[in-house]
Amino acid sequence: MSTVSELLPEYRPTFAEVDLRAFDRNVAAIGQRIPAASRMVAVLKADAYGHGAVELARRCEATVEAFAVALLEEAVELRAAGIAKPILLLGPMRGVQFDLALRHAVTPCVVGPEELDELLARVRANGWAGEIHLKLDTGMGRMGFRAEELDEMAARLQAAPDVRIGGLYTHFANASDPRDPFTTVQIERFRALTARLRELGISAPLHHTANSAAIMRGLVEPGDWVRAGIALYGAEPMDVGQERLEPVLRWTARIARLKWILEGEPVGYGCTWRAPRRSLIATVTAGYADGYPRRLGGQAEVLVRGRRAPVVGRISMDLITLDVTGLEEVAAGDEVTLVGRDATGAEVPAEELAAKLGTISYEIFCGIGSRVPRVYRDGGELRLSSKFERVMQPGYNPASKP
Ligand SMILES: *Cc1c(COP(=O)(O)O)cnc(C)c1O
Repeated sequence: MSTVSELLPEYRPTFAEVDLRAFDRNVAAIGQRIPAASRMVAVLKADAYGHGAVELARRCEATVEAFAVALLEEAVELRAAGIAKPILLLGPMRGVQFDLALRHAVTPCVVGPEELDELLARVRANGWAGEIHLKLDTGMGRMGFRAEELDEMAARLQAAPDVRIGGLYTHFANASDPRDPFTTVQIERFRALTARLRELGISAPLHHTANSAAIMRGLVEPGDWVRAGIALYGAEPMDVGQERLEPVLRWTARIARLKWILEGEPVGYGCTWRAPRRSLIATVTAGYADGYPRRLGGQAEVLVRGRRAPVVGRISMDLITLDVTGLEEVAAGDEVTLVGRDATGAEVPAEELAAKLGTISYEIFCGIGSRVPRVYRDGGELRLSSKFERVMQPGYNPASKP
């Protein structure tokens, strides 16, 4: 069985194929780059940046120290799938969410005084005992306790002995730009803030500061945990450079229709593109409803049989059109690679599409829609994610619980 659409003929042929062995190699490569005493937190928020959090958590659970997600729902999904390792909930969270986090043995990361107040109120009301991590703002200006908030924070925590401080952490604003000295400033501020907290009687067994870019730059204190996101998925964590690991995801679709049109004839909504000559047009089975950004119309290229073909005309909700004139070996039914590396080794990196849109690869990955089935490749073996498998079962009832 060579391709996913042959394996899954009952599905519309567009798939995000996730290479589990490439993911394994990235996990190992990150492990090699951090100090021996350090441990990795795999950041699986936003469904592992579109790659599928449950499958990837299962894949690396034995290797990593913990997981991190943004939302309570994401944490609960992992627990429901049997993931037992610690899960950091990066938050923010409110009220009853703290109770649910405790019920699912999820570690809240407390990001400010308002959140700490809500947490401590739940602790008092429900006799909650557990571990939290505390976020310090060293310059992101977003979440985290500021220097002037530490005294108050320490006083409140000392009055709540059932709450254990498992970790102190911060987040870098611009680690992806090695020329910006601000990351060094943030590292120094983190040292000063943690030293001040020690004076106030608050210390934690561990610290974590580094995201993927900081890991790649070696900005990790021995013993600190690191929070690896984009590097796990093999995209470039730096603004410029060659620090990319192996791409893990390949998004494919198929040519549904191939036709010749005459010189001057338009293609697609708005008639924005007209054939400059008699042209061979391929209609491909994915569109903006699948997360292929509409603004890429007339801008992007895809891979067909290892060669590049330009996307012409507007992107439709479910379809994309290509000009494949000159690629006459192309046939209806051919697989098209929208993002990632194809079987010939040719590649459309997510970074390339992101650059055309003035964004980052993260947004391209997170944008791949929920109606694109995720398929997991393990060497020669292909497996559909359990979420999709259920839907195509005979007798599937959308109202029933999974
Ligand atoms: C998303 C996130 C990360 C991971 O960042 P990458 O650049 O993808 O490695 C790390 N820490 C926090 C707090 C995050 O929100």
